[in-house]
Amino acid sequence: MPSTPSGGVTPIRPVPTVHAVTPRARGKYLPFPRLESIRSRILAFAVLAALVPSGVMLGISYTQNRRALEKKLTEDLLSESAQSARATGVWLKERLYDLRVFAGSDEVANTLDGPGTLARNQSVSSSQAQGRLRDYLLSLHERFSDFEQLMVLDLNGAVVASSADQITQIQLPADWKSILRSDNQIVGETYWDSKAGRPKLIVAVPAQRADGRLIGAFAAELNLAPVKLLLRSFAPDTSSSIFLLTLKGNPITSSEGMNPRLIKTRMPPQTMQKLLANARTPFPFNSFGGRSVIGTLEYVPQVSWAVVSQISSEAAFLQIRRFRDLSIIVIALLLILASALGYRLGLLIARPLDRLAKAAGEVASGDLAVDLPEAAGGGEVGYLTDVFNHMVSRLREGRRELDLIHETLRKKNEELEMLSTTDSLTGLDNHRSLMQRLDEEEARCKRERRSFSVLVGDVDHFKQYNDAFGHPAGDEVLKAISDIMREAARPIDCVARYGGEEFVVLMPDTGPGDALELAEHIRARVAAKKFMSRKMTLSIGVASFPEDADNAEALISIADEALYQAKREGRDRAIRARQLAKTGS
Ligand code: GH3
Ligand code: MG
Ligand code: MG
Repeated sequence: MPSTPSGGVTPIRPVPTVHAVTPRARGKYLPFPRLESIRSRILAFAVLAALVPSGVMLGISYTQNRRALEKKLTEDLLSESAQSARATGVWLKERLYDLRVFAGSDEVANTLDGPGTLARNQSVSSSQAQGRLRDYLLSLHERFSDFEQLMVLDLNGAVVASSADQITQIQLPADWKSILRSDNQIVGETYWDSKAGRPKLIVAVPAQRADGRLIGAFAAELNLAPVKLLLRSFAPDTSSSIFLLTLKGNPITSSEGMNPRLIKTRMPPQTMQKLLANARTPFPFNSFGGRSVIGTLEYVPQVSWAVVSQISSEAAFLQIRRFRDLSIIVIALLLILASALGYRLGLLIARPLDRLAKAAGEVASGDLAVDLPEAAGGGEVGYLTDVFNHMVSRLREGRRELDLIHETLRKKNEELEMLSTTDSLTGLDNHRSLMQRLDEEEARCKRERRSFSVLVGDVDHFKQYNDAFGHPAGDEVLKAISDIMREAARPIDCVARYGGEEFVVLMPDTGPGDALELAEHIRARVAAKKFMSRKMTLSIGVASFPEDADNAEALISIADEALYQAKREGRDRAIRARQLAKTGS
């Protein structure tokens, strides 16, 4: 039994339960999963598990797709440029061949050669020859649509006959005769005919006499529309185009047609050099009008021309970009799906654990009324839940037993406390309890300027009674007198067995008169009662605070004195103490 240093008994009470949740426990119940939580880890794992393989697979297929597309692009560009260059070469070769055939006609030779050889009498026949030549040119023009205008030039470069209505002079290079002699042909530069509203190109072949002497030139304005159609047939796609250009980079025509602005532009010289140096090797560059393209150059055979087949970079990689965008969408969808699954799985796994952690926190804070429902699906968490519930029920049992022990101890303690202040024979307050009450009363009355009285009673000739009837009978007398005193006193009074056959009654807020009255009442009642048909009497001394003494101890001894005076005066009486005995007065 626990006891204080002074020997008093400490009351044992149940340990108060702590309802505050410990910070450690509280931290675990946060509604949002923290980084180290199982839910976050499952979520991260699901996201990684979806992201890594799909990312790698998409990366691989993206690379492969890009390579395949680049290969196909290269093949397409090479094939387009090769075919269009060959076809253009063939077309030009055929036109020049046509011209050579036309130039070989007698009409041409007669017209050009006539005036020089038969100067004197040929003026009429010369104009006749010119007329026939014009008819010839007109008939050719009608039959061959690839020629806009057919012309015959004399050695001075003057147009002597033309298929056009009006003869317009044309500009040939200054050294056109030597070019014709050496190259057997002239392929001029494209220019924009604003009247006709289309590009034109002059080509010429030599007009020769039968002996091979140059007598003039047979020239033609070529209609480039068929070339445009030709080029377009190799580049049907709107994103791809084919340009026919000179080796200096001047455009002749293109699959998209020509316009006055385009005809004035030039492929930047550096780009042109690069294209010429890397013929038949597609690469990205800025084409006419600064368009960003991927293209390649192919030489047109037998003429200083080339074709550049190109596709806009944007269109070239459109498919790749589409694939990339699709990949991003697929990955994003996968991520959303994986996140949702991971979150759901995390909830499934973490929820019972959260419940367990929360319940453990409640148990830790003293609440044992926790009973977790069985975890769905059993498994490790189910086992843990069972163990937890079992542990909590054991704790509950232990708590109940402990409460029971506490209650028993509390009762025993109360008993002990009572025993320590009560007289066992009479049930009245014992000497110790009386002294405590006296001290308290003295202090209270001094503090509040109140009064209180005591009476001290002693059984007269009690020894004789004991001797006559025995000690147990004497005890019965003591008990009966105790009952009389208890009944006579008020509940606030303290009735105590002072020792042996002596009693004290402490009467708070009671003056000497009232005290003496009670003493007399008690005395009379005892005297009126018969004990084994014998009369027993009490002698009583009464003293009051502050009239008779200014402290409790002195008050008792003064009352005791009064008691002895009562004995001396013949017993069976109550006497108030004489005031002269008051200490300090
Ligand atoms: P007086 O009138 O002068 O008081 O005479 P008395 O015989 O009462 O006084 P005395 O002091 O000579 O005797 C007291 C007796 O009380 C002696 C003792 O045996 C008896 N006594 C004290 N305590 C108890 C008790 O608890 N029970 C019983 N039966 N007797 C007790
Ligand atoms: Mg006595
Ligand atoms: Mg006595």
